[in-house]
Amino acid sequence: MSTIAENIAKVGARIREAAQASGRDYATIGLLAVSKTKPAAAVRQAHAAGLLDFGENYLQEALEKQRELSDLPLTWHFIGPIQSNKTRALAEHFAWVHSVDRLKIAERLSAQRPPQLPPLNICLQVNVSGEASKSGCSPEELQALAQAVSRLPNLRLRGLMAIPEPTDDPAAQHAAFARLRQLRDGLGLGLDCLSMGMSHDLEAAIAEGATWVRIGTALFGARDYT
Ligand SMILES: *Cc1c(COP(=O)(O)O)cnc(C)c1O
Repeated sequence: MSTIAENIAKVGARIREAAQASGRDYATIGLLAVSKTKPAAAVRQAHAAGLLDFGENYLQEALEKQRELSDLPLTWHFIGPIQSNKTRALAEHFAWVHSVDRLKIAERLSAQRPPQLPPLNICLQVNVSGEASKSGCSPEELQALAQAVSRLPNLRLRGLMAIPEPTDDPAAQHAAFARLRQLRDGLGLGLDCLSMGMSHDLEAAIAEGATWVRIGTALFGARDYT
């Protein structure tokens, strides 16, 4: 077994245990492998070990990897900060975007989604840690943003995403993830996704309802840059 395959087995066991501990069905929790900064060969190994969903933060890097891996049936998710001049490539080359935090970006993604492709799956990124993080809309802005995005024709609003301030305090981890779940439920839009939880806090995220955990380091090892 390769190291990546071993890591996938370990992460899978963590997800299963966390699901069991909170009485959730393991099958409702997706493992999004965050392959940023890692070579196409690492993605290929992860696919060989059974993974299909991959998350990238940097557009150029992602497009190069997608070209190298075009023989594989992978689903690509964009999870990084979005500049408006990058929306066309995102709309053309990804199945999911988890990091939408303003209407202008959503409108461009909808307008630029090629008609032959299914709607682009969208999660709205929310800043649940206040000033500590710069990305994400504020909880106060969320209702209006979600309403507007849910009406755009070529997008499918699926849920919310957050990157809480890193902490080793389980109570603080739970509080941030619970906040995202409450915000999602408070929208009343029937959204089915919560993209939350990374290598160090996936257990707390699953306990609070995560449907995508975004895992980089625990699968592919440490990164030289973030
Ligand atoms: C890098 C990154 C991850 C993965 O983080 P790890 O701690 O390596 O698991 C998840 N989500 C986002 C948005 C990221 O940028």
